[in-house]
Amino acid sequence: MKKRLVILGAGESGFGTAVLGVKQGYDVFVSDGGKIKDNYKKLLNEWKIEYEEAKHTEEKILNADVVMKSPGIPEKAEMVMKIRKQGIKIVSEIEFGSWFTNAQIVGITGANGKTTTTALIYHIMKSGGMNVGLGGNIGKSFAYQVATENFDHYVLEISSFQLDDIEKFRADIAVLTNITPDHLDRYDYEVQNYVTSKFNITKNQTEKDYFIYCADDEITMSNMEKYQTSAQKIPFAYDKEFAEGGFVKDDNIIININQNQFTMSIQELGLSGRHNVYNSLAAGIVANVYGLRKEQIRESLSDMKSLEHRMESVAKVRNIEFINDSKATNVNSSWYALESMNKPVIWIAGGIDKGNDYSVMEQLVKKKVRGMICLGVDNTKLHSAFGKMVDIMVNVSNMGDAVRMAYQLGNPGDCVLLSPACASFDLFENYEDRGKKFKEEVIKL
Ligand code: ADP
Repeated sequence: MKKRLVILGAGESGFGTAVLGVKQGYDVFVSDGGKIKDNYKKLLNEWKIEYEEAKHTEEKILNADVVMKSPGIPEKAEMVMKIRKQGIKIVSEIEFGSWFTNAQIVGITGANGKTTTTALIYHIMKSGGMNVGLGGNIGKSFAYQVATENFDHYVLEISSFQLDDIEKFRADIAVLTNITPDHLDRYDYEVQNYVTSKFNITKNQTEKDYFIYCADDEITMSNMEKYQTSAQKIPFAYDKEFAEGGFVKDDNIIININQNQFTMSIQELGLSGRHNVYNSLAAGIVANVYGLRKEQIRESLSDMKSLEHRMESVAKVRNIEFINDSKATNVNSSWYALESMNKPVIWIAGGIDKGNDYSVMEQLVKKKVRGMICLGVDNTKLHSAFGKMVDIMVNVSNMGDAVRMAYQLGNPGDCVLLSPACASFDLFENYEDRGKKFKEEVIKL
């Protein structure tokens, strides 16, 4: 008899898992408690996959052999609790996909820098002529590609939610960029639960595998003992030196792997800012582990372009530069954005605060920020954190006002930085929508 695969959530990972399930001979059913987007409905119909929306029919779900829970669905959802109570196995899309491929996997996780590092590694491997797919939270889902493509390698961006439900998933190379508390609402407000989920990336690794981590990251380092791994560990950091690992010395990145040294000037890196030095180190280590040619690695690290909504330079108007860093949805990423600024900043911040502690930003704000535009429904926390530190602080409630006000406050030579440190849902659909509106308003100036 066919095994029954039930999928909760019909987004990118749900649809991809459904297709892979069909191809692997499962009896597949997709159930979404909300409305399914039209494009996914169309695709499910095309693949003749049975689905329901705006409800969960228990009789069709609790008879599953295995359930794939989409990353957006919390553990506390009623249906998830019922499935757990029945003892049915729940896996993530990444786990399910990994059952049906022999491809080598580079898995990237962390609080910040996942997308950038993933894109960078993919760029280097692809330019190096490898038969490689890009997936996870970027583009087409991993499961869909396992079903429809034939890659020898995958570079996957993996969120903590995908790592919560893994069992056998194993990355040949795992990268943990850093850990700062985020999404704690999904982890019972316990940082340790979030940390456990991030370290799951290395849980199933063997001596043949590699675990690449940031030795400057306090939370990572203070947990290394606790989460033992069999993988070969390769660190990267700023002001340290490693016989095996990556670091910065005299404005060069240096990567030592297998008695072989790779060096490159920081000025040549395509992605600027201290955070991107870390991301470039991590990506450079992966490329060197794969033994790609040094010249080619250097070229790829230098011709990489910044991604949309991440320190994206939009335009210069009256010699005021506008930078879109809408993807900065937590304090840590905005810290790096400000840190990389070398001109006076008009800072646009605010939105939905996920329990932010702004004290870590005080020094930077004092040093670099001339004016602040608070763009959120409730800006009280920003006011109490920075009100006394900046010369000018204004409240706005839409992007048009934010950009025009920033433009008025700015002097030639300044920079207007949208790096909100908050989620966007109070005024925007998501961070992409926020970044797009920012760019539209800048173009209108
Ligand atoms: P993620 O996919 O983990 O959310 P992104 O690469 O999309 O990470 O970057 C998100 C935000 O974090 C951007 O604002 C970016 O400028 C910042 N950022 C990128 N890399 C790092 C890093 N290594 N450490 C801290 N912040 C980073």
